[in-house]
Amino acid sequence: MTTPPQQPPFQPGGGGYVPPPGQPPYGQPPYGQPQPPYQQPGQPQGQPPFPQYGPGGPQGGQYQQPQPGQPPYGQPPYGQPQPPYQPQPQPGQYPQGQLQCRFCGGVPAVEATVRGHQGFIVLMRFLKLQGPFCKTCGTAATRDLTAKSMWQGWWGIASLIINPITMFLNLGTYSKFKNLPEPAPGAPGRPMDPGKPLFKRPVALGLLLPIVVIALLVTLANLTSEPSAAVGSCVYNKGTAAKPNVKVVDCTASEADYKVVGRIDGTANGDECARFEDSTVSYTDESRSKKYTLCLAPN
Ligand SMILES: [Zn+2]
Repeated sequence: MTTPPQQPPFQPGGGGYVPPPGQPPYGQPPYGQPQPPYQQPGQPQGQPPFPQYGPGGPQGGQYQQPQPGQPPYGQPPYGQPQPPYQPQPQPGQYPQGQLQCRFCGGVPAVEATVRGHQGFIVLMRFLKLQGPFCKTCGTAATRDLTAKSMWQGWWGIASLIINPITMFLNLGTYSKFKNLPEPAPGAPGRPMDPGKPLFKRPVALGLLLPIVVIALLVTLANLTSEPSAAVGSCVYNKGTAAKPNVKVVDCTASEADYKVVGRIDGTANGDECARFEDSTVSYTDESRSKKYTLCLAPN
């Protein structure tokens, strides 16, 4: 068993090693060893030590080797200022000092920071991608990080506040990219894929998450605070006759003044209690979303 030799990174079209016709471009034998017979591509031995190219082969441009001076996506900028990268020296192509996209090298580009937020109950993650961005890569980065925030950004108390701010900041950043002209053709790298607009993605439903959670909490609060003053239970008036405040108590308790002989949901009209013969007092409640009337008789 031989280990593949450390090969220099393959430069698509870079002019280094040119495979002979009919020979796979990689899977070369180790240097200094006799040439083995021709290997079929796809055999486990001789697999390239670098990522597979996508459809289209090395010339198809699916896989982009990170170019010197151009950090790959998501990597922090190198500590030292890099000179503007010129793919093929073409004097006068870019005016001196013009910002180039950090991701594809395209122009025009604008300095910007795209943000995202992820909440994990107690932990949080702040995502950040620094430019300069061309219009295409900026749009792609904003959509990507905002999409993450839309459904991963809500899961924590602090996140509930931080996340809307994060997405709001991205709105401002996005307008920068919107105002930027389309990138000039011939960028040295491949721009990011902007994908679909955010509101055509299912993750946009994540924006409803906080609304759903609040609605659930309100419903729960309503349900738990609703007095279970069913017919047959007994109540005690903690308040006054003018401003009653009834509490459900056990019928054997000394303070159990009244027994509920009728309950009418959906109305807060004491006159309706006339239909209950025993009822001498009525109690109406419309403070909650569900109003109701209790028809009471002395216990
Ligand atoms: Zn770009």
